[in-house]
Amino acid sequence: MIKDVGIYSNNNKDNLLLNGNESPKNINKDKYFKILEKLKKVDLNRYPDTDGDKLREAYSSYAGVSLDNIIIGNGSDEVINLVISKNIQKGDKLLTVTPDFVMYDFYTALNEGNVTKYNLDVDNYFNLEEFIGLGKRGNVKIVMFSNPNNPTGFAYSKENIIKILEAFKDKIVLVDEAYYEFNGESVVSLIDEYPNLIVTRTLSKAWGLAALRVGFLISNKDNISELSKYKTPYNVNTISQEIASIYLKEEVDSLNENLKLIINERERLYTELKKIEESAKSNKEFIKFYKSKANFIFGRAENKEELINAFREEKVTIRSFEDNSFRITVGLTEENNKVIEIMKYFAKQKN
Ligand code: PMP
Repeated sequence: MIKDVGIYSNNNKDNLLLNGNESPKNINKDKYFKILEKLKKVDLNRYPDTDGDKLREAYSSYAGVSLDNIIIGNGSDEVINLVISKNIQKGDKLLTVTPDFVMYDFYTALNEGNVTKYNLDVDNYFNLEEFIGLGKRGNVKIVMFSNPNNPTGFAYSKENIIKILEAFKDKIVLVDEAYYEFNGESVVSLIDEYPNLIVTRTLSKAWGLAALRVGFLISNKDNISELSKYKTPYNVNTISQEIASIYLKEEVDSLNENLKLIINERERLYTELKKIEESAKSNKEFIKFYKSKANFIFGRAENKEELINAFREEKVTIRSFEDNSFRITVGLTEENNKVIEIMKYFAKQKN
């Protein structure tokens, strides 16, 4: 069954959008105009560079790999789909955790495969042996998880990822590093040591370029030449390739500056939300927040629908899941202050 993946409409610009894990900062206007000036040279009548050599070159310096270790994607969504659609056929299994990025389910279902899920849900408790055992018993073809995890912000240790790579030596292990920059720990350096390892990355989050739809798949050269045969030609448009290449070369400092801001704000927001949780301690189920290594904070609330409505009334959109959980993207200081105020008011009314 194809699931509703909860893709939101972000055309309601009046609302403060804290539901998509995007960067709260848009590009500096002067920089933007300079880039637009350079785009005048683009021949709109010509197809894009299908392999995206300039873009791969720019990303390879940033990621510390060679150009031949990279495939470009129309967002990392597309390269995740590339791996699933090449490897999953009717009845094949993919091992992941729950909760995790909903598109793994979506693409597996499109290919008539089945998803086996390890439950990460009890206070982000990860039992490596149980996870490996589940995959082995199910004879899964692919192991796939986001690190840090979306939506909980939980981060796996490198040590555990290596054990997973060892345990599934003859299977594909895809580590989705969409939020890697907020955590700082990557397994990209292991691609030659572990031929079963594929890493995906994106410019949609820390780099603040979600509108461009640019993502990357990183793996050893043999995997890249094999997977490239299945890639859609011209999948990343020329404008996106051009802007992304300039950004990767010239904007590393502003990336680092933004990262510092978001990580500081994440810790401050978490501390403040925890205080609200503590103040409602007489009712343990009332609200709970989870420590995060990404640019969002995951929570659970007894009255989640009311909480979502309280945010909606203040024109703030946060992400709501099917159960009692929700996720709030870390924004700019004043945006996070608004979140804290709404949460405080809600808690006061309910307790
Ligand atoms: N992986 C994870 C874990 C995500 O949260 C997202 C976006 N929400 C993606 C991949 C896809 O990102 P994009 O297609 O914009 O690169």
